[in-house]
Amino acid sequence: MKTVAFQKCINPDCGATFDVGQTLTGCKLCGDLLDIEYDWCSAAIPKSMKEFQTRWQNRRFPLDFSGVWRFRDLFPFAADAMICTIGEGQTFLQNAVCLGNHIGMWPGQLWLQYEGMNPSGSFKDNGMTAAFTHARLVGARRVACASTGNTSASLALYAASNGFQGIVFIGSGKIAFGKLAQALDYGARTLQIEGDFDTCLMRVREVATHLGLYLMNSVNPFRLEGQKSIMYRVLESLSWQPPDWIIVPGGNLGNCSAFGKAFGELKALGLIKKIPRLAVINASGASTLHQLFTAGLRWNHGHVDEAQIKAHYASLESQGIHPHTVASAIEIGRPVNLKKALRALDLMNGVTCDVSDEEILEAKALIGRFGLGCEPASAATIAGLKRLLERQIISRSDRVACVLTGHGLKDPDATVYYHTGINTKNARQPAPEATWGSRANKPIRVDDDLSAILAAIGASGDIGADAGAGYVPTALELPFVEY
Ligand SMILES: *Cc1c(COP(=O)(O)O)cnc(C)c1O
Ligand SMILES: [Zn+2]
Repeated sequence: MKTVAFQKCINPDCGATFDVGQTLTGCKLCGDLLDIEYDWCSAAIPKSMKEFQTRWQNRRFPLDFSGVWRFRDLFPFAADAMICTIGEGQTFLQNAVCLGNHIGMWPGQLWLQYEGMNPSGSFKDNGMTAAFTHARLVGARRVACASTGNTSASLALYAASNGFQGIVFIGSGKIAFGKLAQALDYGARTLQIEGDFDTCLMRVREVATHLGLYLMNSVNPFRLEGQKSIMYRVLESLSWQPPDWIIVPGGNLGNCSAFGKAFGELKALGLIKKIPRLAVINASGASTLHQLFTAGLRWNHGHVDEAQIKAHYASLESQGIHPHTVASAIEIGRPVNLKKALRALDLMNGVTCDVSDEEILEAKALIGRFGLGCEPASAATIAGLKRLLERQIISRSDRVACVLTGHGLKDPDATVYYHTGINTKNARQPAPEATWGSRANKPIRVDDDLSAILAAIGASGDIGADAGAGYVPTALELPFVEY
């Protein structure tokens, strides 16, 4: 296949381009981040997004089955034969009527994009399938990443199923057990490094250079190409009508960057008319983007004030501040895609917000109570939405799509902690005060005795309506989006 794709430095003063056959984690001239770009004039682009829908009829063909590669015309960097897919992206956009009502949204306006449905249980598979495809294209055999957990789980899964050796670096004591279990199970060589995610990432970049390992972190621009498809699926579920808002948690900021790129390209190609607004939610214990954005840092046509970023990091360092949050997937102090995230915020007229661990866990319990399990980082979206509604930045009548980035079973300890106060997670940490969440659903200890059990279950009719669910519509009563 004659490729129409190339790599391009995001720094407008540099703009160097490189072949897609090269393995790079930054611009060879100035070290800045790279984009994958396309010569769209030579690419075969569908005339309308509706053409992608018809691919589903051809789902016995793995590339049309994949919720990522179905859209491959929108990131044509690899020949079909190179594509590493295991059927990722079978995710859905759920209309969260009851949850929306509960937090005061207009009926039917809140939607949840449930990326926990992916093969490894997080949105990372969308990007990993693309990066592995590039790794295969350049003939790599060994792949590596630093991870707060989900990147390593996804890498390990794709390595095992596509014949690569996987090597993952995780910070000691920082990983949720569901995620660690996946890396071990799929046979990745797992190195626990003394230090946090930022330290691990620095190390793995160094080691990758030494050993010629293919780096799978989101500095790898091919990952972001695959992650664009999350937004294509959101649009598809809404019959190609962009929502008013996209809300996403911010960690290393690859996902929000990919979303910005996706919408920028669709608009430029004339495939959508409107670009939604973007809200990126940080945990308050790891809120570099929010702090810098609030302090006025902007994309500024690519001329980002690097001195402001450096000064911010120096001040964190001098105060000994390290990222800390219950939402381990976004416990990142130095997000590598910061500049791309600023570009996405610029393009999408975006906002940032930070939310406390308490708000995250309360929001997670609420999402769970209405029937979708997600991990703490994902719940930052609903916590952020509540804040943005209060501040009237988002209106109750807006149509909002929140990305639930990871599955609830990734981090069962966080859930058990919220409901019981039992801290199974970090043995090194002293047991906390028994602070149960406001929706704590504590297991009831009961003797093996019939009348005690009957009493514990309670009188009939008491169905624990504490979440205020009220009337729950059936599937057929949900808003139906006409094609
Ligand atoms: C990786 C991850 C995030 C953060 O995404 P970034 O692209 O790093 O900003 C959020 N939630 C979950 C569940 C993740 O695995
Ligand atoms: Zn450059």
